[in-house]
Amino acid sequence: MEKILNYINGELVEPTSGNYLDNYNPSNGQVYSLVPDSEESDINNAVLAAKEAFNSWSKTPKQERANILMKLADTIEKYSSELIKAESKDNGKPENLAAHVDIPRAPANIRFFAGAILHDSSQMHEMDGVAINYTLRQPVGVAACISPWNLPLYLLTWKIAPALASGNTVVAKPSEITPMTAFMLSKICIEAGLPKGILNIVHGLGSKIGDPLTTHIDTPIISFTGGTVTGKHIARVTAPMFKKVSLELGGKNPNIIFADADFDKAVSTAARAAFTNQGQICLCGSRLFIQEEIYKKFKIALIEKTKKLKVGDPKEISSNLGAIVSKEHMNKILSKIEEAKKLGGKILIGGKRVILDGELKDGYYIEPTIIEGLSSDCDINQTEIFGPVVSLIPFKTEAEVIDMANSTKYGLSASIFTENISKGHRVAANIDSGVVWINTWLLRDLRIPFGGMKQSGVGREGGFKSLDFFTEPKNICVKI
Ligand code: NDP
Repeated sequence: MEKILNYINGELVEPTSGNYLDNYNPSNGQVYSLVPDSEESDINNAVLAAKEAFNSWSKTPKQERANILMKLADTIEKYSSELIKAESKDNGKPENLAAHVDIPRAPANIRFFAGAILHDSSQMHEMDGVAINYTLRQPVGVAACISPWNLPLYLLTWKIAPALASGNTVVAKPSEITPMTAFMLSKICIEAGLPKGILNIVHGLGSKIGDPLTTHIDTPIISFTGGTVTGKHIARVTAPMFKKVSLELGGKNPNIIFADADFDKAVSTAARAAFTNQGQICLCGSRLFIQEEIYKKFKIALIEKTKKLKVGDPKEISSNLGAIVSKEHMNKILSKIEEAKKLGGKILIGGKRVILDGELKDGYYIEPTIIEGLSSDCDINQTEIFGPVVSLIPFKTEAEVIDMANSTKYGLSASIFTENISKGHRVAANIDSGVVWINTWLLRDLRIPFGGMKQSGVGREGGFKSLDFFTEPKNICVKI
Protein backbone atom coordinates (compact mmCIF):
# COMPACT_ATOMS: atom_id res chain seq x y z
CA MET A 1 0.00 0.00 0.00
CA GLU A 2 1.33 3.43 -0.92
CA LYS A 3 2.91 5.35 1.95
CA ILE A 4 2.63 9.11 1.93
CA LEU A 5 5.74 10.78 3.35
CA ASN A 6 6.51 14.11 4.94
CA TYR A 7 8.53 16.61 2.89
CA ILE A 8 11.19 18.20 5.09
CA ASN A 9 14.30 20.06 3.99
CA GLY A 10 13.83 18.99 0.39
CA GLU A 11 13.51 15.29 1.19
CA LEU A 12 10.70 12.79 1.55
CA VAL A 13 10.92 11.37 5.06
CA GLU A 14 9.02 8.98 7.31
CA PRO A 15 7.39 10.42 10.44
CA THR A 16 9.78 10.14 13.41
CA SER A 17 7.36 7.82 15.24
CA GLY A 18 7.16 5.47 12.25
CA ASN A 19 3.36 5.51 12.73
CA TYR A 20 0.81 5.92 9.97
CA LEU A 21 -2.93 6.53 9.70
CA ASP A 22 -5.29 4.94 7.18
CA ASN A 23 -6.25 7.08 4.20
CA TYR A 24 -9.66 6.24 2.71
CA ASN A 25 -11.03 6.43 -0.79
CA PRO A 26 -14.51 7.88 -0.11
CA SER A 27 -15.90 6.56 -3.40
CA ASN A 28 -15.66 2.95 -2.16
CA GLY A 29 -14.94 3.28 1.57
CA GLN A 30 -11.65 1.37 1.26
CA VAL A 31 -8.26 2.25 2.74
CA TYR A 32 -5.91 2.84 -0.18
CA SER A 33 -2.86 4.55 1.30
CA LEU A 34 -1.19 5.44 4.57
CA VAL A 35 -0.57 8.95 5.85
CA PRO A 36 2.09 9.90 8.44
CA ASP A 37 0.80 10.23 12.00
CA SER A 38 3.34 12.97 12.67
CA GLU A 39 4.28 14.36 16.06
CA GLU A 40 5.79 17.47 17.55
CA SER A 41 9.29 16.28 16.63
CA ASP A 42 8.35 16.25 12.92
CA ILE A 43 7.03 19.80 13.21
CA ASN A 44 10.23 20.86 14.98
CA ASN A 45 12.37 19.34 12.20
CA ALA A 46 10.29 21.09 9.54
CA VAL A 47 10.37 24.48 11.31
CA LEU A 48 14.15 24.20 11.78
CA ALA A 49 14.63 23.45 8.07
CA ALA A 50 12.36 26.35 7.12
CA LYS A 51 14.14 28.71 9.52
CA GLU A 52 17.54 27.88 8.07
CA ALA A 53 16.25 28.23 4.50
CA PHE A 54 14.75 31.63 5.35
CA ASN A 55 18.22 33.19 5.58
CA SER A 56 18.88 32.75 1.88
CA TRP A 57 15.33 32.63 0.44
CA SER A 58 14.34 35.95 2.02
CA LYS A 59 17.34 37.56 0.31
CA THR A 60 16.86 35.87 -3.06
CA PRO A 61 16.05 38.56 -5.66
CA LYS A 62 12.35 38.77 -6.56
CA GLN A 63 12.93 37.88 -10.19
CA GLU A 64 14.76 34.72 -9.16
CA ARG A 65 11.99 33.77 -6.72
CA ALA A 66 9.45 34.36 -9.47
CA ASN A 67 11.40 32.18 -11.93
CA ILE A 68 11.60 29.33 -9.42
CA LEU A 69 7.87 29.53 -8.69
CA MET A 70 7.00 29.70 -12.41
CA LYS A 71 9.01 26.51 -12.94
CA LEU A 72 7.09 24.90 -10.07
CA ALA A 73 3.78 25.91 -11.70
CA ASP A 74 4.90 24.44 -15.04
CA THR A 75 5.86 21.18 -13.35
CA ILE A 76 2.49 20.98 -11.56
CA GLU A 77 0.79 21.45 -14.92
CA LYS A 78 2.86 18.62 -16.41
CA TYR A 79 1.19 16.29 -13.87
CA SER A 80 -2.34 17.70 -14.23
CA SER A 81 -4.02 14.50 -15.30
CA GLU A 82 -2.45 12.49 -12.44
CA LEU A 83 -3.38 15.23 -9.95
CA ILE A 84 -7.00 15.33 -11.18
CA LYS A 85 -7.40 11.58 -10.66
CA ALA A 86 -5.67 11.71 -7.28
CA GLU A 87 -7.74 14.64 -5.96
CA SER A 88 -10.94 12.88 -6.96
CA LYS A 89 -9.88 9.57 -5.40
CA ASP A 90 -8.75 11.19 -2.15
CA ASN A 91 -11.69 13.56 -1.72
CA GLY A 92 -14.59 11.86 -3.52
CA LYS A 93 -15.27 14.82 -5.80
CA PRO A 94 -16.06 14.19 -9.48
CA GLU A 95 -12.95 14.08 -11.66
CA ASN A 96 -14.72 16.55 -13.91
CA LEU A 97 -14.84 19.10 -11.09
CA ALA A 98 -11.19 18.52 -10.15
CA ALA A 99 -10.31 19.00 -13.83
CA HIS A 100 -12.17 22.30 -14.14
CA VAL A 101 -11.77 23.85 -10.70
CA ASP A 102 -9.24 22.34 -8.29
CA ILE A 103 -6.22 21.39 -10.33
CA PRO A 104 -6.00 24.29 -12.82
CA ARG A 105 -6.14 26.67 -9.84
CA ALA A 106 -2.92 25.27 -8.34
CA PRO A 107 -0.52 26.50 -11.08
CA ALA A 108 -2.72 29.59 -11.54
CA ASN A 109 -2.28 30.52 -7.86
CA ILE A 110 1.47 30.10 -8.07
CA ARG A 111 1.86 32.03 -11.34
CA PHE A 112 -0.39 34.80 -10.04
CA PHE A 113 1.76 35.52 -6.98
CA ALA A 114 5.06 34.92 -8.82
CA GLY A 115 3.95 37.72 -11.17
CA ALA A 116 2.48 39.91 -8.44
CA ILE A 117 5.79 40.36 -6.57
CA LEU A 118 7.30 41.82 -9.75
CA HIS A 119 4.53 44.43 -10.00
CA ASP A 120 4.22 45.41 -6.34
CA SER A 121 5.19 48.89 -5.14
CA SER A 122 5.58 50.46 -1.73
CA GLN A 123 4.40 53.74 -0.21
CA MET A 124 6.26 57.01 0.22
CA HIS A 125 5.06 59.87 2.48
CA GLU A 126 6.72 63.24 1.97
CA MET A 127 6.77 65.70 4.94
CA ASP A 128 6.74 69.15 3.29
CA GLY A 129 10.47 69.21 2.56
CA VAL A 130 11.40 68.12 6.11
CA ALA A 131 11.68 64.39 5.61
CA ILE A 132 10.56 61.52 3.51
CA ASN A 133 9.09 58.29 4.81
CA TYR A 134 9.18 55.16 2.79
CA THR A 135 7.78 51.77 3.65
CA LEU A 136 9.79 48.61 3.27
CA ARG A 137 7.81 45.39 3.15
CA GLN A 138 9.86 42.49 4.42
CA PRO A 139 9.10 38.78 4.72
CA VAL A 140 8.09 37.71 8.22
CA GLY A 141 9.80 34.33 8.65
CA VAL A 142 8.48 30.78 8.73
CA ALA A 143 4.80 30.77 7.79
CA ALA A 144 2.52 28.03 9.13
CA CYS A 145 -0.03 27.27 6.40
CA ILE A 146 -2.94 25.04 7.44
CA SER A 147 -5.51 23.95 4.87
CA PRO A 148 -8.76 21.91 4.86
CA TRP A 149 -9.96 18.87 2.92
CA ASN A 150 -12.60 20.35 0.64
CA LEU A 151 -10.32 21.93 -2.00
CA PRO A 152 -7.02 20.34 -0.98
CA LEU A 153 -4.43 21.41 -3.56
CA TYR A 154 -6.32 24.57 -4.55
CA LEU A 155 -6.31 26.00 -0.99
CA LEU A 156 -2.83 24.74 -0.12
CA THR A 157 -1.33 26.58 -3.11
CA TRP A 158 -3.47 29.66 -2.36
CA LYS A 159 -1.43 29.98 0.85
CA ILE A 160 2.03 28.74 0.00
CA ALA A 161 2.26 30.76 -3.24
CA PRO A 162 2.03 34.26 -1.66
CA ALA A 163 4.03 33.14 1.38
CA LEU A 164 6.95 31.91 -0.73
CA ALA A 165 6.70 34.68 -3.33
CA SER A 166 7.03 37.27 -0.52
CA GLY A 167 10.23 35.62 0.70
CA ASN A 168 8.92 33.62 3.63
CA THR A 169 9.56 29.94 4.04
CA VAL A 170 6.71 27.58 4.85
CA VAL A 171 5.66 24.65 6.99
CA ALA A 172 2.35 23.44 5.59
CA LYS A 173 -0.10 21.07 7.22
CA PRO A 174 -2.74 19.76 4.83
CA SER A 175 -5.79 17.95 6.18
CA GLU A 176 -4.92 14.36 7.00
CA ILE A 177 -8.25 13.40 5.38
CA THR A 178 -7.02 14.43 1.91
CA PRO A 179 -3.20 14.35 1.91
CA MET A 180 -2.46 12.81 -1.49
CA THR A 181 -2.08 15.82 -3.79
CA ALA A 182 0.07 17.60 -1.19
CA PHE A 183 2.33 14.54 -1.22
CA MET A 184 2.43 14.63 -5.01
CA LEU A 185 3.26 18.33 -4.77
CA SER A 186 6.29 17.40 -2.59
CA LYS A 187 7.59 15.15 -5.36
CA ILE A 188 6.88 17.84 -7.95
CA CYS A 189 8.85 20.36 -5.85
CA ILE A 190 11.85 18.02 -5.88
CA GLU A 191 11.60 17.57 -9.66
CA ALA A 192 11.24 21.33 -10.17
CA GLY A 193 14.37 21.96 -8.10
CA LEU A 194 12.70 24.02 -5.39
CA PRO A 195 15.44 25.14 -2.96
CA LYS A 196 15.66 22.82 0.03
CA GLY A 197 13.71 23.79 3.12
CA ILE A 198 11.70 26.68 1.67
CA LEU A 199 8.57 24.52 1.63
CA ASN A 200 8.02 21.73 4.12
CA ILE A 201 4.87 19.62 4.31
CA VAL A 202 4.03 17.71 7.48
CA HIS A 203 1.05 15.33 7.44
CA GLY A 204 -0.95 14.23 10.45
CA LEU A 205 -3.76 15.00 12.83
CA GLY A 206 -4.60 18.61 13.59
CA SER A 207 -5.33 17.61 17.17
CA LYS A 208 -1.75 16.34 17.53
CA ILE A 209 0.46 18.61 15.41
CA GLY A 210 -1.75 21.69 15.12
CA ASP A 211 -0.68 23.29 18.41
CA PRO A 212 3.03 22.42 18.03
CA LEU A 213 2.95 24.21 14.67
CA THR A 214 0.83 27.24 15.53
CA THR A 215 2.44 27.88 18.92
CA HIS A 216 6.00 27.19 17.80
CA ILE A 217 8.23 30.10 18.75
CA ASP A 218 9.65 30.18 15.22
CA THR A 219 6.35 30.42 13.29
CA PRO A 220 5.48 34.11 13.65
CA ILE A 221 2.79 34.03 10.96
CA ILE A 222 -0.16 31.68 10.47
CA SER A 223 -2.56 31.36 7.57
CA PHE A 224 -5.43 29.02 8.38
CA THR A 225 -8.44 27.91 6.37
CA GLY A 226 -10.91 25.58 8.04
CA GLY A 227 -13.82 25.45 10.45
CA THR A 228 -14.81 28.24 12.83
CA VAL A 229 -14.28 26.04 15.91
CA THR A 230 -10.67 25.28 14.91
CA GLY A 231 -10.16 28.95 14.00
CA LYS A 232 -11.28 30.01 17.49
CA HIS A 233 -8.87 27.55 19.04
CA ILE A 234 -5.96 28.86 16.95
CA ALA A 235 -6.89 32.47 17.81
CA ARG A 236 -6.94 31.56 21.51
CA VAL A 237 -3.63 29.69 21.68
CA THR A 238 -1.69 32.12 19.50
CA ALA A 239 -3.01 35.43 20.90
CA PRO A 240 -0.51 35.62 23.80
CA MET A 241 2.32 35.13 21.31
CA PHE A 242 1.30 38.17 19.19
CA LYS A 243 1.54 36.29 15.91
CA LYS A 244 0.22 37.52 12.59
CA VAL A 245 -2.85 35.36 12.02
CA SER A 246 -5.22 35.14 9.07
CA LEU A 247 -8.33 33.00 9.52
CA GLU A 248 -10.60 31.93 6.65
CA LEU A 249 -13.48 30.09 8.30
CA GLY A 250 -16.93 28.63 7.73
CA GLY A 251 -20.09 30.12 6.26
CA LYS A 252 -23.87 29.73 6.10
CA ASN A 253 -24.27 31.73 2.96
CA PRO A 254 -27.57 33.30 1.87
CA ASN A 255 -28.66 33.11 -1.73
CA ILE A 256 -31.42 35.70 -2.25
CA ILE A 257 -33.81 35.39 -5.19
CA PHE A 258 -36.02 38.42 -5.86
CA ALA A 259 -39.22 38.05 -7.89
CA ASP A 260 -37.70 40.13 -10.69
CA ALA A 261 -34.68 37.83 -11.12
CA ASP A 262 -33.82 36.13 -14.40
CA PHE A 263 -35.71 33.00 -13.39
CA ASP A 264 -33.83 30.29 -15.29
CA LYS A 265 -30.43 31.73 -14.46
CA ALA A 266 -31.37 31.97 -10.77
CA VAL A 267 -32.64 28.37 -10.64
CA SER A 268 -29.59 26.86 -12.28
CA THR A 269 -27.16 28.97 -10.23
CA ALA A 270 -29.00 28.14 -6.99
CA ALA A 271 -28.63 24.43 -7.75
CA ARG A 272 -24.94 24.85 -8.56
CA ALA A 273 -24.36 26.96 -5.42
CA ALA A 274 -26.06 24.33 -3.24
CA PHE A 275 -24.60 21.12 -4.62
CA THR A 276 -21.19 21.74 -6.24
CA ASN A 277 -18.51 19.58 -4.59
CA GLN A 278 -21.37 17.86 -2.70
CA GLY A 279 -22.05 21.18 -0.95
CA GLN A 280 -18.59 21.13 0.60
CA ILE A 281 -17.37 24.57 -0.45
CA CYS A 282 -17.20 27.30 2.18
CA LEU A 283 -18.99 29.59 -0.32
CA CYS A 284 -21.93 27.27 -1.05
CA GLY A 285 -25.35 28.92 -0.87
CA SER A 286 -27.04 26.75 1.76
CA ARG A 287 -29.85 29.16 2.73
CA LEU A 288 -32.05 29.94 -0.25
CA PHE A 289 -34.33 32.94 0.29
CA ILE A 290 -37.05 33.19 -2.37
CA GLN A 291 -39.50 36.10 -2.69
CA GLU A 292 -43.07 34.96 -2.04
CA GLU A 293 -44.50 35.83 -5.48
CA ILE A 294 -42.26 33.25 -7.18
CA TYR A 295 -41.68 30.84 -4.26
CA LYS A 296 -43.85 27.99 -5.53
CA LYS A 297 -42.74 28.21 -9.15
CA PHE A 298 -39.09 28.47 -8.11
CA LYS A 299 -39.37 25.51 -5.73
CA ILE A 300 -40.86 23.29 -8.44
CA ALA A 301 -38.18 24.31 -10.96
CA LEU A 302 -35.38 23.70 -8.44
CA ILE A 303 -36.75 20.25 -7.60
CA GLU A 304 -36.89 19.41 -11.32
CA LYS A 305 -33.31 20.61 -11.78
CA THR A 306 -32.16 18.60 -8.75
CA LYS A 307 -33.89 15.42 -10.00
CA LYS A 308 -31.60 15.55 -13.03
CA LEU A 309 -28.42 15.64 -10.96
CA LYS A 310 -26.64 12.31 -10.94
CA VAL A 311 -24.92 11.05 -7.82
CA GLY A 312 -22.40 8.54 -9.05
CA ASP A 313 -18.92 7.25 -9.65
CA PRO A 314 -16.60 10.28 -9.41
CA LYS A 315 -14.66 8.90 -12.39
CA GLU A 316 -17.68 9.13 -14.70
CA ILE A 317 -18.08 12.35 -16.64
CA SER A 318 -21.88 12.12 -16.21
CA SER A 319 -21.69 12.28 -12.38
CA ASN A 320 -22.69 15.69 -11.02
CA LEU A 321 -22.10 14.74 -7.40
CA GLY A 322 -19.46 12.32 -6.14
CA ALA A 323 -18.84 11.01 -2.63
CA ILE A 324 -18.81 12.89 0.66
CA VAL A 325 -15.25 13.21 1.97
CA SER A 326 -15.47 10.73 4.87
CA LYS A 327 -17.82 8.33 6.63
CA GLU A 328 -17.78 10.55 9.71
CA HIS A 329 -18.77 13.62 7.70
CA MET A 330 -21.47 11.69 5.80
CA ASN A 331 -23.01 10.57 9.10
CA LYS A 332 -22.89 14.14 10.40
CA ILE A 333 -24.77 15.42 7.34
CA LEU A 334 -27.35 12.61 7.58
CA SER A 335 -27.90 13.38 11.27
CA LYS A 336 -28.46 17.06 10.42
CA ILE A 337 -31.11 16.01 7.89
CA GLU A 338 -32.82 13.92 10.60
CA GLU A 339 -32.63 16.90 12.96
CA ALA A 340 -34.25 19.08 10.27
CA LYS A 341 -37.14 16.61 10.03
CA LYS A 342 -37.60 16.61 13.80
CA LEU A 343 -37.77 20.40 13.74
CA GLY A 344 -40.66 20.16 11.26
CA GLY A 345 -38.67 20.52 8.04
CA LYS A 346 -40.17 18.89 4.95
CA ILE A 347 -37.75 17.05 2.67
CA LEU A 348 -38.79 18.05 -0.85
CA ILE A 349 -36.23 15.82 -2.52
CA GLY A 350 -33.29 13.69 -1.38
CA GLY A 351 -32.47 13.26 2.29
CA LYS A 352 -30.97 9.79 2.13
CA ARG A 353 -27.69 7.97 1.68
CA VAL A 354 -27.17 6.59 -1.82
CA ILE A 355 -25.85 3.03 -2.12
CA LEU A 356 -24.19 2.53 -5.49
CA ASP A 357 -23.68 -0.85 -7.13
CA GLY A 358 -20.69 -3.16 -7.11
CA GLU A 359 -17.31 -1.88 -5.96
CA LEU A 360 -18.76 1.47 -4.90
CA LYS A 361 -21.39 -0.01 -2.56
CA ASP A 362 -19.53 1.12 0.58
CA GLY A 363 -18.89 4.65 -0.71
CA TYR A 364 -20.17 7.72 1.12
CA TYR A 365 -22.86 9.17 -1.15
CA ILE A 366 -25.81 11.41 -0.22
CA GLU A 367 -28.69 12.57 -2.39
CA PRO A 368 -28.86 16.31 -3.09
CA THR A 369 -31.40 17.45 -0.53
CA ILE A 370 -33.88 20.33 -0.44
CA ILE A 371 -35.69 21.20 2.79
CA GLU A 372 -38.52 23.67 3.37
CA GLY A 373 -40.60 24.79 6.29
CA LEU A 374 -37.87 25.63 8.78
CA SER A 375 -37.73 29.01 10.43
CA SER A 376 -34.76 31.17 9.56
CA ASP A 377 -33.55 31.17 13.17
CA CYS A 378 -33.57 27.41 13.81
CA ASP A 379 -30.28 25.61 14.29
CA ILE A 380 -30.36 23.98 10.83
CA ASN A 381 -30.57 27.42 9.21
CA GLN A 382 -27.99 28.95 11.52
CA THR A 383 -25.07 26.50 11.57
CA GLU A 384 -22.93 25.15 8.77
CA ILE A 385 -23.81 21.63 7.56
CA PHE A 386 -21.22 21.54 4.75
CA GLY A 387 -23.04 18.98 2.64
CA PRO A 388 -25.50 18.76 -0.30
CA VAL A 389 -28.34 20.27 1.70
CA VAL A 390 -30.19 23.50 0.96
CA SER A 391 -33.00 25.06 2.97
CA LEU A 392 -35.72 27.14 1.26
CA ILE A 393 -37.06 30.19 3.10
CA PRO A 394 -39.74 32.51 1.63
CA PHE A 395 -39.58 36.27 2.19
CA LYS A 396 -41.81 39.27 1.52
CA THR A 397 -39.68 42.41 1.60
CA GLU A 398 -36.13 43.59 1.02
CA ALA A 399 -35.78 44.65 4.67
CA GLU A 400 -37.00 41.28 5.94
CA VAL A 401 -34.59 39.28 3.79
CA ILE A 402 -31.62 41.46 4.76
CA ASP A 403 -32.43 40.81 8.44
CA MET A 404 -32.67 37.06 7.91
CA ALA A 405 -29.56 36.93 5.72
CA ASN A 406 -27.57 38.72 8.44
CA SER A 407 -28.99 36.67 11.32
CA THR A 408 -26.24 34.01 11.54
CA LYS A 409 -22.90 34.23 13.29
CA TYR A 410 -21.21 33.87 9.88
CA GLY A 411 -20.48 36.43 7.17
CA LEU A 412 -18.54 34.80 4.38
CA SER A 413 -20.45 35.22 1.12
CA ALA A 414 -23.88 35.95 -0.33
CA SER A 415 -25.57 35.96 -3.72
CA ILE A 416 -28.38 38.23 -4.87
CA PHE A 417 -30.52 37.62 -7.95
CA THR A 418 -32.44 40.60 -9.33
CA GLU A 419 -32.73 42.42 -12.66
CA ASN A 420 -33.08 45.72 -10.75
CA ILE A 421 -29.48 46.84 -10.52
CA SER A 422 -30.16 49.58 -7.95
CA LYS A 423 -31.75 47.02 -5.66
CA GLY A 424 -28.81 44.71 -6.24
CA HIS A 425 -26.31 47.36 -5.13
CA ARG A 426 -28.50 48.43 -2.19
CA VAL A 427 -28.95 44.92 -0.81
CA ALA A 428 -25.28 44.04 -1.40
CA ALA A 429 -24.21 47.05 0.66
CA ASN A 430 -26.41 45.89 3.55
CA ILE A 431 -25.36 42.25 3.70
CA ASP A 432 -22.75 41.43 6.34
CA SER A 433 -20.36 39.31 4.33
CA GLY A 434 -16.91 39.52 2.84
CA VAL A 435 -18.06 38.63 -0.68
CA VAL A 436 -21.39 39.46 -2.35
CA TRP A 437 -22.21 38.24 -5.85
CA ILE A 438 -24.96 39.83 -7.92
CA ASN A 439 -26.55 37.50 -10.48
CA THR A 440 -23.75 34.96 -10.17
CA TRP A 441 -21.94 32.66 -7.75
CA LEU A 442 -18.31 31.60 -7.27
CA LEU A 443 -16.96 33.98 -9.86
CA ARG A 444 -13.49 34.57 -8.46
CA ASP A 445 -10.92 37.19 -9.40
CA LEU A 446 -7.61 36.41 -7.70
CA ARG A 447 -6.93 40.13 -7.16
CA ILE A 448 -9.88 40.79 -4.85
CA PRO A 449 -9.62 40.93 -1.04
CA PHE A 450 -11.09 37.59 0.03
CA GLY A 451 -12.29 36.70 3.52
CA GLY A 452 -15.18 36.73 5.93
CA MET A 453 -16.88 38.99 8.44
CA LYS A 454 -18.05 38.00 11.94
CA GLN A 455 -17.18 34.35 12.71
CA SER A 456 -16.26 33.61 9.10
CA GLY A 457 -12.79 34.92 9.58
CA VAL A 458 -10.24 37.54 10.42
CA GLY A 459 -8.28 39.40 7.78
CA ARG A 460 -8.31 39.26 4.01
CA GLU A 461 -6.17 37.33 1.57
CA GLY A 462 -6.01 37.54 -2.22
CA GLY A 463 -4.07 39.79 -4.57
CA PHE A 464 -1.92 42.42 -2.84
CA LYS A 465 -3.79 41.70 0.44
CA SER A 466 -1.95 38.37 0.55
CA LEU A 467 1.38 40.08 -0.12
CA ASP A 468 0.57 42.60 2.64
CA PHE A 469 -0.30 39.80 5.05
CA PHE A 470 2.86 37.82 4.35
CA THR A 471 5.14 40.86 4.85
CA GLU A 472 5.84 43.28 7.69
CA PRO A 473 5.68 46.97 6.81
CA LYS A 474 8.65 48.94 8.11
CA ASN A 475 8.69 52.74 8.10
CA ILE A 476 12.04 54.38 7.28
CA CYS A 477 12.07 58.13 7.96
CA VAL A 478 14.88 60.14 6.30
CA LYS A 479 15.47 63.77 7.43
CA ILE A 480 16.21 66.03 4.48
P1 NDP B 1 -11.06 21.91 10.23
O1 NDP B 1 -11.13 23.19 10.95
O2 NDP B 1 -11.50 20.67 10.94
O3 NDP B 1 -9.60 21.60 9.72
C1 NDP B 1 -8.85 22.50 8.93
C2 NDP B 1 -7.38 22.17 9.09
O4 NDP B 1 -6.99 22.49 10.44
C3 NDP B 1 -7.03 20.69 8.91
O5 NDP B 1 -5.77 20.58 8.31
C4 NDP B 1 -7.02 20.21 10.34
O6 NDP B 1 -6.30 19.03 10.50
C5 NDP B 1 -6.35 21.37 11.02
N1 NDP B 1 -6.51 21.42 12.46
C6 NDP B 1 -7.38 20.77 13.25
N2 NDP B 1 -7.17 21.09 14.55
C7 NDP B 1 -6.15 21.97 14.58
C8 NDP B 1 -5.48 22.67 15.61
N3 NDP B 1 -5.80 22.53 16.89
N4 NDP B 1 -4.48 23.51 15.27
C9 NDP B 1 -4.14 23.69 13.99
N5 NDP B 1 -4.73 23.03 12.96
C10 NDP B 1 -5.73 22.19 13.25
O7 NDP B 1 -11.88 22.13 8.88
P2 NDP B 1 -12.21 21.04 7.79
O8 NDP B 1 -10.96 20.41 7.28
O9 NDP B 1 -13.31 20.18 8.32
O10 NDP B 1 -12.75 21.97 6.60
C11 NDP B 1 -14.05 22.37 6.49
C12 NDP B 1 -14.24 23.77 7.05
O11 NDP B 1 -13.39 24.67 6.37
C13 NDP B 1 -15.63 24.29 6.83
O12 NDP B 1 -16.08 24.92 8.01
C14 NDP B 1 -15.47 25.30 5.72
O13 NDP B 1 -16.45 26.29 5.70
C15 NDP B 1 -14.11 25.83 6.01
N6 NDP B 1 -13.54 26.45 4.82
C16 NDP B 1 -13.41 27.82 4.78
C17 NDP B 1 -12.93 28.43 3.64
C18 NDP B 1 -12.75 29.91 3.57
O14 NDP B 1 -12.04 30.38 2.68
N7 NDP B 1 -13.34 30.70 4.46
C19 NDP B 1 -12.57 27.65 2.44
C20 NDP B 1 -12.73 26.25 2.61
C21 NDP B 1 -13.21 25.67 3.76
P3 NDP B 1 -7.11 17.63 10.57
O15 NDP B 1 -7.79 17.46 9.26
O16 NDP B 1 -6.04 16.65 10.79
O17 NDP B 1 -8.06 17.74 11.73
